[in-house]
Amino acid sequence: MTVDCPACNSNNTKVTQKIMDIPHFPNIWLFVLVCRECKYKYTDFINLNVKEPTRYVYHAKNSDDYTTKIIRASNGTIRFPQIGAMIEPGPNAVSFINNIEGVLRDIQGKARFLLRDAVTEEEKQRILNFDSMIDEYILKGLPIDVIVEDPFGNSTIVPFDSNKLETEKLSPEESEKLKTSFSEFQV
Ligand SMILES: [Zn+2]
Repeated sequence: MTVDCPACNSNNTKVTQKIMDIPHFPNIWLFVLVCRECKYKYTDFINLNVKEPTRYVYHAKNSDDYTTKIIRASNGTIRFPQIGAMIEPGPNAVSFINNIEGVLRDIQGKARFLLRDAVTEEEKQRILNFDSMIDEYILKGLPIDVIVEDPFGNSTIVPFDSNKLETEKLSPEESEKLKTSFSEFQV
């Protein structure tokens, strides 16, 4: 399959796809688009199990729960209400598979990056506090909720303990409020 490149509009892109081997989630497809002209690369996941707007909530209670995997397609929004952190879709939204600890480390890395641009002492202190709070959550396995919402149902949670996972349909109003990134190709 070839498509036009979203970045340079050349017709020289290649799309590869494969089905991920994830226990209990047999129909997660990985798509990779690579442009031979400008090297633009785009990956995304298509969840063939679910085709409707869905919210997943995982209630992590201990360190084992932090191994729960998050599959984030490009239109997925991830929220950690207790620590006030959120990952939203945008023009450069990346799709990924990572566990809760890994996602928190990514958020921590972004916060540290912001520290360089922090001007006031207050700003710096706020970021440092956030940084050590994430360390504490991870080291102690503190209870934390993670919410994954996707208007197309492609993002999901692969739970360590399925008893701690809630799945619910999003109402059309809730779904509309979610940000989406523009996707150039369809399957
Ligand atoms: Zn290109």
